[in-house]
Amino acid sequence: GAEGTQSNVPFVGFLKQIFAQAMPGMFGRAQMSTKGGAESDAFVAAPVVAKDRPLLDVGRVVMQFGGLKALGGVDLSVKPGTIHGLIGPNGSGKSTMMNVLTGIYTPTAGEVKFESHSLAGLNSPQIAALGVARTFQNVQLFGELTLTENVLVGLQHAYRSGIFEIALGLPRARADEAVARKRAAAILDFVGLASLANEEARNLPYGKQRLLEIGRALALDPKLLLLDEPAAGLTAPDIKELMSIIRKIRDHGITIILIEHHMDVVMSVCDTITVLDFGEKIAEGKAAEVQANPRVIEAYLGGAAATA
Ligand code: ADP
Ligand code: MG
Repeated sequence: GAEGTQSNVPFVGFLKQIFAQAMPGMFGRAQMSTKGGAESDAFVAAPVVAKDRPLLDVGRVVMQFGGLKALGGVDLSVKPGTIHGLIGPNGSGKSTMMNVLTGIYTPTAGEVKFESHSLAGLNSPQIAALGVARTFQNVQLFGELTLTENVLVGLQHAYRSGIFEIALGLPRARADEAVARKRAAAILDFVGLASLANEEARNLPYGKQRLLEIGRALALDPKLLLLDEPAAGLTAPDIKELMSIIRKIRDHGITIILIEHHMDVVMSVCDTITVLDFGEKIAEGKAAEVQANPRVIEAYLGGAAATA
């Protein structure tokens, strides 16, 4: 489906070869520092955003797939510096909303505004360049690359040097590489993976792969980070660690939209929650308000998640 598969092996092999040729130093494994430091958080950029207006403003968005309306005219306003939960039963349109926000789907109608930009007509890389990063419902990592390399892929945007400068080992390229490696180490430290920097991603336990995916998204210097069910399949201790990292990201000034099935996670970390059902917004507010809303209880909390 649209979410893709975990690792496209021939492509990764190709990617690795290209990097190894162009940036011999970048993919050397010996010289990586695996030690985290107190200064490391500074390498995860704190974005500057206007505080007095929504960071994201979605107006009457419709997403039609043939005869199916996955989103039936949804409004969504996300305040800067908040964790905004997006919940709802399976098939209610949550992932579709993420795909609209990141340019994977072009909405049938409606508008999406990010800061002062309309996202209409922009593709995924253009939207990412404006400061919107995401993780996927199914983990998507380069399994044969190390953790550091996975983060470096996310950091490519930060390079000033062209490929020729890098290949020739010119000073500016070497400086860029050093900065990128430092930042990659800091980001891995930020998500608690510093000690595993030189492991191949495919060898990580599932919960750590999730954290690596978040780290790679942070490498894009996002203003808005979209997380699609990051706690899915995680053990209780992993979920606890994930929650503290999500809060830490928010405290850095990065706004988060969190899709999540674990009600305890949603209710405890989200500042605001929007509830979808059959592609319609049925409730919005703080955790306590949403939990007490009869429409939500009927549509969603009445079932398996009633213990939330
Ligand atoms: P959720 O993430 O809330 O579980 P989705 O957004 O994945 O729900 O799906 C919402 C509805 O849209 C579902 O009925 C799903 O089958 C449908 N849908 C999602 N993506 C597509 C697509 N690319 N083509 C056709 N139908 C889709
Ligand atoms: Mg989904």
